[in-house]
Amino acid sequence: MGEKCELLEKCGFFLNFQGNSEVVKQGWIRNFCESKEKSEKCERKKIRKETGKPPTDNMAPTGRLL
Ligand code: SF4
Repeated sequence: MGEKCELLEKCGFFLNFQGNSEVVKQGWIRNFCESKEKSEKCERKKIRKETGKPPTDNMAPTGRLL
């Protein structure tokens, strides 16, 4: 297993929604959070870099709101 997203431990989406059925179904954790490389495409990460603040917790890595 390679490196994961460096924001994992402070990401409100990961912390609060990793067990959500839609999140599991979409495979978002696997497809973004568990890979440092893939996490660079995460909309949450982009917003955090651009604004310095995390987006609302219920925003998925694709930018979609749960
Ligand atoms: S949702 Fe995005 S910022 Fe949060 S842990 Fe996953 S990849 Fe990182």
